[in-house]
Amino acid sequence: MSRPKQFEHHRYVGDKRNQRVHDLDNASEACAIDELMAAETFVSFGPDTLVEARNRTYKPCRHCVSADDDAA
Ligand SMILES: [Zn+2]
Repeated sequence: MSRPKQFEHHRYVGDKRNQRVHDLDNASEACAIDELMAAETFVSFGPDTLVEARNRTYKPCRHCVSADDDAA
């Protein structure tokens, strides 16, 4: 799927409701990114990395963030 236009320049998006971080380059239907955009409870990270998301206590989404990325 393509990135939402709000996230054209970001790879990772967090959902404030459940503190999950999604990888937009790998997102699936199960991630419900469209619904997240509609709910406007998303957050971007600076720098736009999984490490930064984790530092902000976001947990990787199991649908789109691979275990390898999680370990890195
Ligand atoms: Zn996801």
